[in-house]
Parts: sequence; structure tokens; C-alpha cells
Amino acid sequence: MASSKLVPFRLPPLPTIGEIIKLYKLRAEKQLSQNFLLDMRLTDKIVRQAGNLRGTHVCEVGPGPGGITRSILNAGAADLLVVEKDNRFIPGLKLLSEAAPGKVRIIQGDILTYRLDRGFPKVLTKTWDDDPPDLHIIGNLPFNVSTPLIIKWLENMSNRSGPFVYGRTRLTLTFQKEVAERLTASTGSVQRSRLSIMAQYLCTVKSCFTIPGRAFIPKPEVDVGVVHFTPLVQPQIQQPFKLVEKVVRNVFQFRRKHCHKGVQMLFPEAERLEMTEAMMCKADVDPTLRPIQLSMSNFRALADAYSHLCSEHQGLLTYDFREELRLKHLNRRAGSVRTQQPVC
Ligand code: SAM
Repeated sequence: MASSKLVPFRLPPLPTIGEIIKLYKLRAEKQLSQNFLLDMRLTDKIVRQAGNLRGTHVCEVGPGPGGITRSILNAGAADLLVVEKDNRFIPGLKLLSEAAPGKVRIIQGDILTYRLDRGFPKVLTKTWDDDPPDLHIIGNLPFNVSTPLIIKWLENMSNRSGPFVYGRTRLTLTFQKEVAERLTASTGSVQRSRLSIMAQYLCTVKSCFTIPGRAFIPKPEVDVGVVHFTPLVQPQIQQPFKLVEKVVRNVFQFRRKHCHKGVQMLFPEAERLEMTEAMMCKADVDPTLRPIQLSMSNFRALADAYSHLCSEHQGLLTYDFREELRLKHLNRRAGSVRTQQPVC
């Protein structure tokens, strides 16, 4: 816990979020995909999904006018670091920080580059197989930021860097509803995708609830899903993140075809059929299953088999079929230019 003084805390009366938006002329920037939550019952509900915040450290990403920020403070967080890119929100956040003395630290910056590994005291750190640390990340970010951010944080999780230097830091984040469905999709679901495997091999992923688009101002085109992530003590696949990502990306590139079609593209054209057969055999995976039908243990077996082949074939890990295609295309063009040269 961040503080030994666990006196219940309530923010003093403040202008409403709607009034803050008017007071500081915080018109939502469409280009930045800003959509605000003004209903405190909803922001409280999002924050409750993180668990008990009393006395904890929290990082809120993209606080904007501060609705979720207020709910985090009212939930009793002892230390709240907010990272906001748009400087128009800083005065409103300062007002909030004055109402909760010593609790709020404001960073104007980009969460995609901000060093969260330096954002909190080292005493918070728990070992990986211990319970999660008293540190939570919460955020309602634009959709174009939340997807690259979760990919980055999954990679950080796999090598215990970034916010995971403190241990198995929990995340409560919003996504476009379709992305939330992909993150949590189970074997056989039509939403099953690369994102499902990458998230679920590293975390327990829980779909919390859906917020209808009409709850936001301005209203986005889509509904929003709240998703909670707890890193697993033991990842379900014990291979480097990049290797897992490569296998999963290739398998899913032909979603409707048998899975061996995608696996083939992991290998140079000359050895493609032979090596695919070797990999499918070693993994003991039915090559006629469709990508969405593959279970996590199938993906584990495929990643292990691919890693084994990479250890036997130098250069295989860095092989990229697109590069082979590009070179082939260039050679073909160079050949046709040569044959068109006039004979003098
Ligand atoms: N959390 C507020 C709410 O729920 O009402 C605002 C949500 S709005 C969808 C997203 C917020 O994230 C905006 O305040 C925006 O400026 C901020 N933001 C966008 N990209 C960001 C980034 N890369 N780093 C930090 N904040 C960012």
C-alpha cells in the first residue's frame, strides 16, 4: 500500500466535468479521437473493474477533462500519475490536483513514449510469481492509441519491462467493442484473431462490460468495451514475444483457409512444403484446422516446433516471405529489361 494513513477520501465539491469543459473551452478534437465521459456513475463503474484502489498507486492514461480521474481519487488511490498528451487539459487537471493535495502528479506527454518504469517508487516492486503489485493502470484512450499501446505493453509484459518492472501490474483499459471482443475471444469464436492469442498467452483477459457510444460526448461511431488484464505468472507459451508474434501473424493471414497455408509462409519457397510438414508433424497439430479453431496449446506446440526448426536452420528466424517475393519481382523486372535491350 502506498500510504499507511487509510482515511477514506472524498473530493471536495468541484465544478462538474461538463462545467470544466465549458470553463476551459475543451472542445473535443475530432482529429485526436477525443470522446469524453461525463457520467460519474459510468466512470465509477470503469474504476471499480480495477479492484480495490484504496491506498494504491495508479497511472491514468489520457485523463482529458478528468472524469475517470475523479473516480480514481474517490476510490481512495494514494498516488495518481496522469499522463495526458493534450496541454489544453492541464489547467483542469491542476484544479483537481489542488483538491486532492499530494495525491496527483501530472505529466504532459505521450504514453507511447513515456518511461513508466521510472514513474513509481521501486519499493512497490513485487517478484513476478508474487501477487500483483499495488499499482494499476487505467485509461480511456482513443482507439488509434489503445491498440498499439496494448501490443507494446504485451511485449513489455513478456520481457518484464516498462510498467511490468514492478511485477504483474494490472491494466483496465477501453477499446472499440470489436477489438475488446477480439482480445477476449475463445477458440472457435469468429472474433478469434492474432490479438486474442497474443493477449491470452500472457494474461488473464476479462471482458468487463460494454459502454454504448451514446454515453460519450461527442458520440463515437462505435460502442466501447472495458477490458481488464492480469499478467500470468507463467505465460502459456514459453518462447520470445517476437517469435510467437511471427508464428501467430502468419497462421492468421489466411483466416478462412486450413492453418498449414499460413504456416507455409514461415519458410523459404524452395523448402516450403517439406518444412511445413515437418513443423505440423512435430507440433502434432491437424493441418486442416482453420486458424480460429486452434487452441492455445496448439499455438504453444506450433511456436515450440518453429523455434526448434529455427535452431537447426540458420537465418530462418529472420526469413520474411514478403522480402523473398520482393526480390523475385525485382529480379524478374531486371531480367525483362535485359531481354528488351536493343541488339547493336
Ligand atoms: N479519459 C477521458 C474521459 O474518459 O472522458 C478522456 C478520454 S478521450 C477518449 C482520450 C484522451 O487521451 C484525451 O484526453 C487525449 O488527449 C488523450 N490522449 C490521446 N493520445 C494520447 C497519448 N498518446 N498519450 C497520452 N494521452 C493521450
